[in-house]
Amino acid sequence: MITVTKTYLPNKEKYKEYIDRIYESGKLTNNGDNVKKLERALESYLGVKNVVLVCNGTLALMIAYKLLKIDKEVITTPFSFIATTSSMLWQGIKPVFVDINRDDYNINVKKIEENITDKTQGIIPVHVFGACCDVDNINDIAKKNNLKVIYDASHCFGIKYKNNSILKYGDISTISFHSTKIFHTIEGGALIINDDILYKKAKKMINFGFDEYGSISEVGINAKMNEFQAAMGLCVLEEIDEAIENRRKIYNYYMEKLKDIKAIKLQQTNNYYNKNYSYFPIVFESSKLLKLAIKLMEEEDIYPRRYFYPSINKVSYINSESEMINSEDIAEKVLCLPIYESLQKEEIDKIIKILKFIIEEWSIYK
Ligand SMILES: *Cc1c(COP(=O)(O)O)cnc(C)c1O
Repeated sequence: MITVTKTYLPNKEKYKEYIDRIYESGKLTNNGDNVKKLERALESYLGVKNVVLVCNGTLALMIAYKLLKIDKEVITTPFSFIATTSSMLWQGIKPVFVDINRDDYNINVKKIEENITDKTQGIIPVHVFGACCDVDNINDIAKKNNLKVIYDASHCFGIKYKNNSILKYGDISTISFHSTKIFHTIEGGALIINDDILYKKAKKMINFGFDEYGSISEVGINAKMNEFQAAMGLCVLEEIDEAIENRRKIYNYYMEKLKDIKAIKLQQTNNYYNKNYSYFPIVFESSKLLKLAIKLMEEEDIYPRRYFYPSINKVSYINSESEMINSEDIAEKVLCLPIYESLQKEEIDKIIKILKFIIEEWSIYK
């Protein structure tokens, strides 16, 4: 069976050594050695300061809103995983959607300002599939209008924009370390916080509001990462460069085979940033073709995923009146092809063969 992704499992013996040490120490959570070690290791690997590990990427977003006192209305993208928006609604924040670009599927920066109201407190863009947003212009708009910026950078492990970690942009960037992501801690996530005071506040907020002396100084929640999760992260981090390199080969192989097929559009990226080869999204000419591709692949035990469908403004509980022409259109036609370290060339060939078969016959199905 071939799925869209397969969780990367690091060397088992190494993980066992970490587990043994956790057993010896008896300390399973509460800012233990592995969590501290992973925070420093990630700061160094990613080239950022102030990493706060939490138990998942959704809580990272929710804590970011609290830290920046966002509680009314924000501008965001409709083309993302549902958690970007549902985390806002959970905290009573109203998402105002701005449509995406047709080429890179990120928020259309030119349309942000016309959607700012007197209630807008922030802009929450997503670097979708690891393609960086127009961060310089977003920064200018935010400054001019006195707005906070939180990037949902869940897809951006190891991505550098103009030679600087993309996670440094915005007041806060958040990232997910869920098992489906390229770097993972089973479940997990992090906030990367530019301001040192906010960083200290975040450390308390994720632990019920306790400060380092054990007194309760503010309202907090429990968002702590545990020692088993952090141990997994430490093991995966040691092998991540090789894992990314293997994905690069698969990515390039797909690219070479698919780049000239007119009925399939690929995400446009640019040279300001590198790739981490997490996803391989393709956009078909029509949703009919997409559905046919899924059907034929499933018959061969291949399971790509419709990331992201539907466009979030179309989710039943959202009640959004605005039409998101590009996001709705892309969401109807986009498919993420299987990509993971152990995917074999013969398996990719099988996927490409199905795609080519559909495309060659596509005028019949159009
Ligand atoms: C995975 C993901 C999340 C949620 O992260 P979890 O760790 O699963 O809670 C949020 N936003 C985006 C864009 C994601 O891909």
